[in-house]
Amino acid sequence: MSALAPGALIDGTAVEELQAMFRGELIRPDDRGYDEHRKVWNGSIDRHPGLIARCTGVADVRAAVGLAKERDLLVAVRGGGHSFPGLSVCDDGLLIDLGAMKGMRVDPEKRTVRAQAGVLLGELDRETQGFGLAMTSGIVTHTGMAGLTLGGGIGWIMRKYGLTIDHLLSVDVVTADGEVLTASEDQNADLFWGVRGGGGNFGIVTEFEFRLNELGPYVVAGPVFWAMEDAGEVLRFHRDWVADCPDELMTIVVQRRAPALPTVPPELVGKLIIGITACYAGPIEDGERVVRPLKEFGSPVLDLCMPKPYLAHQQMFDPSFKHGWSYYVRSCDVAELNDDVIDIMVEHGSRITSPITSIALWQMGGAVARVGDDATAFNGRQAGFTFNINGNSMTPEGFEAERDWARSYWSALEPHHTSVYVNFLMEEGEERVRRAYGAEKYDRLKALKRTYDPTNLFRLNQNISPD
Ligand code: FAD
Repeated sequence: MSALAPGALIDGTAVEELQAMFRGELIRPDDRGYDEHRKVWNGSIDRHPGLIARCTGVADVRAAVGLAKERDLLVAVRGGGHSFPGLSVCDDGLLIDLGAMKGMRVDPEKRTVRAQAGVLLGELDRETQGFGLAMTSGIVTHTGMAGLTLGGGIGWIMRKYGLTIDHLLSVDVVTADGEVLTASEDQNADLFWGVRGGGGNFGIVTEFEFRLNELGPYVVAGPVFWAMEDAGEVLRFHRDWVADCPDELMTIVVQRRAPALPTVPPELVGKLIIGITACYAGPIEDGERVVRPLKEFGSPVLDLCMPKPYLAHQQMFDPSFKHGWSYYVRSCDVAELNDDVIDIMVEHGSRITSPITSIALWQMGGAVARVGDDATAFNGRQAGFTFNINGNSMTPEGFEAERDWARSYWSALEPHHTSVYVNFLMEEGEERVRRAYGAEKYDRLKALKRTYDPTNLFRLNQNISPD
């Protein structure tokens, strides 16, 4: 039987078989809610699974995996549904949807949190900040915690506290055999190494346990914007300013057209701008001192960098990445912002047309770079900066032009590419996945895949083929 055979394999008997063991909801193409649950965040992805299994817990996940294995079904696994290339939904096969698994428990004494696989970043941030605690999570709060963590997890406080995976203490995993394993430094350590960067290749993680840091509730954070004409000077200032900044400071450079938001003056909306967004993970007075040069540089057109709740800062980019718009991303790491990289940014930034196309240039380093390269499957700890080049449009019309723009920006940077963050890949083929992990880690991940998923049941991901 072919694993890619269409949904005919999911016939009525199969659904009945699963239903007998399943507590959650099973949704077929003709059922109410089918369209709602098959949709993913990226509106340019439009796939129709043969069956959606909305799991409520580990037993449901095991039952769904059991059916998939028995019937050789194509399997998609969904956490928060924010895979850029839409890898968490498939045509015809079985969609194992973890979105209803929202359990969380903070232990304030131990400063840890346990969270199930359907938790979104904003939900986790709220729960942990309720105790004055936080871990590195992403910069858009409707992203899924599961997929982000399995790829590594980069965010505002990583330079101080490390990647999301550097907070991970243990995971519960349902393997392709339907076994439930706990992986940590002490148990199934090989698997624990692999899930910290290796994505969903080795099984379905049903629960995560993280350590937490004290943070907030207020931090000094937010963007300062200048006109795009000033991009060259702004980028040179940024390069010098962050060269020896403390780990508490993390910045993201943004190029885009000013969005229509309540915080943006109407006369600025639609204008090409360059911004430096800062977040200082430490005392307010120290943060104010550290960001002063940013606020005093040149002639900003808008300054929104100030003390504010960490939770509000986490949500800042949410309105720019709404569900259902068409998204395309190209990404690469670079070692440094040399003059050539800056010239490329100046040129391509000035060619942005769509109101929702943007680039984010992430400042890496700090605690991320101090963890050993071999400690986890994540690659690229020594990257200087990470580019996330987003060619986006609100409707399918014009999307191709935005993709072309993103590709040309990325290609211009090619001489400077070093590594690439696996969670920022589209479907770019095996060579790019190999590039993301580096040859040595890729081989180690392949060996692990042969141990835990030799038939490649979990293949809709940045796939590490066992062959
Ligand atoms: P899904 O689409 O549900 O899943 C992504 C992949 O992980 C799929 O292959 C899926 O099968 C697999 N998967 C999901 N859950 C599980 C599980 N429990 N067990 C096994 N496999 C699983 N990344 C960052 O590091 N930092 C950021 O700040 C950041 N910001 C982003 C903002 C936006 C708007 C978007 C779209 C993405 C962002 N990313 C960021 C990238 C993000 O980390 C990845 O897209 C991630 O895969 C999303 O996780 P998810 O659970 O929402 O995705």
